Amino acid sequence: MKTTKTDIVVLGAGPGGYAAAFYAAELGKSVVMVEMDKRLGGVCLNRGCIPSKALLHASKLIKEAEESGFRGIEFSKPKINLTQMRQWKESILQKLAQGVADIAKKRGVTVVYGRGYFEDSKTLRVETSGGQTFFTFDQAIIASGSLAAMPAAFDLGNPRIMTSTEALEIEDVPERMLIIGGGYIGMELGTVYRTLGSTIVLVEALGSILQGADADLVRPVLRYAEKNFAEVRTNARVLKMATSGKQIKATIEHEGQTRDELYDRVLVSVGRTPNSRNLGLENTKVTLDEKGFVKVNDRQQTADPAIYAIGDVAGGVLLAHKASKEARVAVEVICGEMSEFKDIVIPAVVFTDPELAWCGMTEAEAKEKGIEVQTAKFPWSASGRALSFDRTEGMTKLIIDPQTERILGVGIVGVGAGDLISEAVVAIELGATARDLAESVHPHPTLSETLSEAAEVFYGVATNIYSRRKAKQEPAV
Ligand code: FAD
Repeated sequence: MKTTKTDIVVLGAGPGGYAAAFYAAELGKSVVMVEMDKRLGGVCLNRGCIPSKALLHASKLIKEAEESGFRGIEFSKPKINLTQMRQWKESILQKLAQGVADIAKKRGVTVVYGRGYFEDSKTLRVETSGGQTFFTFDQAIIASGSLAAMPAAFDLGNPRIMTSTEALEIEDVPERMLIIGGGYIGMELGTVYRTLGSTIVLVEALGSILQGADADLVRPVLRYAEKNFAEVRTNARVLKMATSGKQIKATIEHEGQTRDELYDRVLVSVGRTPNSRNLGLENTKVTLDEKGFVKVNDRQQTADPAIYAIGDVAGGVLLAHKASKEARVAVEVICGEMSEFKDIVIPAVVFTDPELAWCGMTEAEAKEKGIEVQTAKFPWSASGRALSFDRTEGMTKLIIDPQTERILGVGIVGVGAGDLISEAVVAIELGATARDLAESVHPHPTLSETLSEAAEVFYGVATNIYSRRKAKQEPAV
């Protein structure tokens, strides 16, 4: 039995795990990173963020070409070669995964391909293709991520019922596709399949799509979906599914009626479950919450003094950049620093068309918590840049503390919102006021100007739209 001693074992090589492994190695620790997939990078790189964004880029090209006729530019109907598209997507993933492997090597991180299992609080057994190997460690970081949820009622074993993992493979372009769940994954993949030619029906159990964002910001995304999808049904539930020849029969309840409908493929995007089972956690002191997420404190410490958890498996918002930030906190705590994951601004981005992004406090959250806020909105119909490419449906919205004028939250809907939100993250992290934003010169003509103009709206002095003054004007000095 081969046993190797290391300072830190990291279980999982996603954006949480590899960020932790690289940082710990940089800080002088000996690190073993264990990954059961054949490729590093986790869900994000292999089955999540990156492949979905590659496909969304392809969709954008198709859509822009389709809609350019009124500009006097006509393209013929695109010929889509799915095999080539898959190869192109795969080549991107391959490059990125190779990059992660190369950096691991350069940083001296030992990568072990195999399935990890805790024998006790100080030992990880790894089942590799070459047999078992054991690692004893001072600290372990669990970064085992999450899996797409598949409710038992939908789990027929029929490949036409897909999670995001299979949907990203684009086996074919189904004629009629049902999407269950109007979260960001359902909306993004619905956009991809619609652009490739599928007829999409999206069913959401709650009263609106994209929960978590303010309703006024969701509206332009909903309008896109209502225009391009065959139907968006909210307050609707898929009760069961059954195989019907080459199709899937879905029994759907909506507005007091239950109907059976046939679809060529179904995407189930109803959330994610933590990857905390079969890790041997029962042999440690690690505890789980009722949904199976590993319980951690603000320092990413579990109930077991030697074990930390980060990323999707530790719950909270399930996003790659949150996993990477928690990785830094865990490693710093292990190295004796006072770091904690507290009051950290984690932006959320939905890469639909238009994109939707927000960070900090939302207006709905302020209302729910009884916090007095003022909002300042800049409609993109007044942005020269948005007009220059005919996408004026966007909006930039600031949530401001009326007493201190500090920016508490920002929401942006519109083309490129996902990139624009970073300025808002910095502003909130640095405690910027609306005046700071208004007085910082933004380049013209850019969409970033909508942030400073929204701040000017707050003071009633926006150059490009007429707005009544909301806040008291400071005397000129
Ligand atoms: P993961 O990336 O899930 O990695 C965990 C790794 O642990 C996996 O590689 C797994 O094989 C390995 N593992 C598990 N158990 C074991 C074991 N016992 N032994 C060895 N290895 C093990 N997030 C964003 O921020 N932006 C996006 O645009 C975005 N788009 C997404 C699109 C889709 C379709 C999906 C599904 C997700 C998307 N996400 C996005 C979410 C993002 O992918 C996750 O939040 C992120 O991957 C979590 O990182 P992680 O390191 O916690 O875990």
